[in-house]
Order: sequence, then structure tokens, then C-alpha cells
Amino acid sequence: NGFVLLGLAPELVQAVADLGYTQPTAVQAKAIPLAMNKGANATAFVDLMVSSQTGSGKTAAFLLPVLHTLLEQQAEMEAEGRAEFERAVAEAAANGEPAPKRKRKDPTNPRNFKAAAPGALILCPTRELAQQVAQDAIELVKHCRGLRVANVVGGIPYQLQIAKLQNANLVVATPGRLLDLQRSMQIKLDKVQFLVVDEADRMLDLGFSDDLAEVNQMTAQRQQTMMFSATFASRIQQLAMRVMHDNGAGVK
Ligand code: AMP
Repeated sequence: NGFVLLGLAPELVQAVADLGYTQPTAVQAKAIPLAMNKGANATAFVDLMVSSQTGSGKTAAFLLPVLHTLLEQQAEMEAEGRAEFERAVAEAAANGEPAPKRKRKDPTNPRNFKAAAPGALILCPTRELAQQVAQDAIELVKHCRGLRVANVVGGIPYQLQIAKLQNANLVVATPGRLLDLQRSMQIKLDKVQFLVVDEADRMLDLGFSDDLAEVNQMTAQRQQTMMFSATFASRIQQLAMRVMHDNGAGVK
């Protein structure tokens, strides 16, 4: 499977194989390695501006690298949790005390890990697109234990959405409903590390410029921004200038 060569986690390679993808599309082959790459100073991921049409495989081009990094971070947290537990066992043994039990609610137990706020946010211009992207994400995380996807769009009862948001690592949202939930403090955006703006040109056509500016500010701590757009008219480039933290790698 051609996805192995991109350096993706085995859980993700398995998911794309299950979907019947054998080779990455052109935009995937270019964007995925760039998005996973930490750049020259290795302190942050590079920002990307990608020109891509619907049907090019763009959705997996941004979902796969984001999910890959979330998986890596989850594995690190689990290793830390395990190490802490082993230290507690060793300490008890040294003191002649009985070994501590790994309680169900023990926060050092990786099984109890709950994301308080999403690590990744995908913004889509319409409810239909957001639902499609969330569906694709759910397919891709199917072998990833502990990665959860939530969809935040208008027209769905708030209570239902809020319940699903609790443990979500990746949120796929339309700007309006996202900001509603943010204002009512149902979602915190200060843990977002990866922000993707899908179909940025339609986002501007639909008048989401101010909302994007707001999300940009609320996720100022993020490590990476990716913008996908069918066109790169000057208004899109102006948006990119505002939301990108560096010049990006300019994938075409
Ligand atoms: P998108 O451009 O993201 O809307 O994707 C268009 C369609 O291509 C979707 O139905 C995907 O399931 C499919 N697709 C995405 N990547 C691949 C791939 N590498 N091989 C085959 N089909 C793909």
C-alpha cells in the first residue's frame, strides 16, 4: 500500500486500506509528508496552503497527517502514564508497602484519559461538507483506540452535540455553531494545535471572514494551520496572510 511510504501510523494505513485506497492521490502525496514535517527549527509544524478541487482526495490529505500526530501524542501520554505507575509500584516495593492497584479512575491510567478540549479543529463552510468530512474522519480513526471525532454544525439539537463533544480529540465544525458553543462555554479552543480551513474560498463567499478572524484569535496557541481552497484569488491570499504563522510551503 502506497500510504506506508508516507510514514503514516499503521492504524491509519489499515483504515485507508479498508477504504480500498491503494495509492495516495497527487494532493495527498504532496501535502501529507509536508504537513507531518516539523520544518527546519523542529519546534513547530509548517503551515500549508493547498490548492485542491473537490474529488482530489483533499479531505484525507488534511485528516491523515492531523490524526497521525494526534496518535503520536496519545502514545506519548500513555507512555508517561505507564512510567508514572511503574514508579509508584517501585516506590511502594522499596517502602515495603503493597503494590498500588491501577484503579479505574486513576488519572495516570491511560484508559481514563479524557481530552478536555479538542486538539484539532477542521472548519468547513457548510453543514453538508462538515458532515461529510466528519464521516471520513470517523472512517479513518476506526483502528485508532481513543481518538474521537465530533461534528459541530447547526440544525442539530445542542444537547446531543454537547454530549458527543466531551471527549472529542478532533472537531469538524461550521463557524457559526462552533462560536455559539464557544460563547456558551461548551467548548474550549485553547488546546487546539491543528487548525484546518477547508474550502476557504467558499468560506469567504458565505461571509465567514469575521468568524474566521475570531477562531484565528481563539486558537492563537496552535502549532499548525492548513488552508485548502479551489482558487487562490487575492482575497484568499489576504486571508492566508492573516491566519498563517509562516509563509507555508505553498503546495499546488
Ligand atoms: P475529496 O476530494 O476529499 O472529496 O475525495 C474525493 C473522493 O475520493 C472521496 O470519495 C474519497 O473517498 C476518495 N479518495 C480519497 N483518497 C483516495 C485514494 N487515495 N484512493 C482512492 N480514492 C480516494
